[in-house]
Amino acid sequence: MTAYAENMTPGMTLPRLLCVQAHPDDETIWTGGTLARHCAAGGEADVVTTTWGIGRPRHLELVEALATLGLPRPPIMLGYADGGVPGSADLPPLVDAPFDDEVRALTAHVRALRPDIILTTDAFGIYGHPDHIHTHRLCLAAAEAAAEPHLYPDEGPAWQVSSIYLVTVSESRSRAAWEQVMAVKAPGRSVGTPDERIDETIDVRDFLDVKWAALQAHRTEFARSKTMRAIRTLDAPVRESLLGWECYVRRDLVGGGRSLDQ
Ligand SMILES: [Zn+2]
Repeated sequence: MTAYAENMTPGMTLPRLLCVQAHPDDETIWTGGTLARHCAAGGEADVVTTTWGIGRPRHLELVEALATLGLPRPPIMLGYADGGVPGSADLPPLVDAPFDDEVRALTAHVRALRPDIILTTDAFGIYGHPDHIHTHRLCLAAAEAAAEPHLYPDEGPAWQVSSIYLVTVSESRSRAAWEQVMAVKAPGRSVGTPDERIDETIDVRDFLDVKWAALQAHRTEFARSKTMRAIRTLDAPVRESLLGWECYVRRDLVGGGRSLDQ
């Protein structure tokens, strides 16, 4: 039993999680430790990825990554194209598609899965990627729409999400990480959220090996991205400082909300 589960008092059940991310690999890099810890403690979690279609290479890598993290089910693909890869899905690019169609599609999944907590990216998409920013907006709209029975009445009974956890990185940590990964001094304006605005920082070092193994499934990204390859070459202590903590800004949609820990 993990320390996470030991903290629970008898009768307490873990919240049901839904993680909504833009691309295959975002679920592992930003939230993989949180998901692995939750599933190891017996919690329920699902992942919706807004870009890439079923059967495409990155979908298959995502299936493998989620199994490694210990998720009980394969990912749900919303099926929009990645902004940088037109052939990644049959639907139009995520940022160009009709927003109402996207909200309807995600609302249907929220109502079917009935999560207590949704994990998604922060308003800046952590580092400004348009697909990440769009996924944040889509996710917030769908969380509100899911609770409103007059909206999309054909998409299942209304469901109230309790809290949204917006994954981010701490400004101080992102500056250090930049210098370690890029081997150059960070630019004047670094990404991330000032530490005092972060509500919860989760120590996932106990699940770092699982997270690291899941990340290896994303072979296409290692082949494409210099940054990903740089992360692979880091020695263990630096890797731990980069991937061993996951930071969230919490937004409660109901009074009191719901914590990841209870
Ligand atoms: Zn991404």
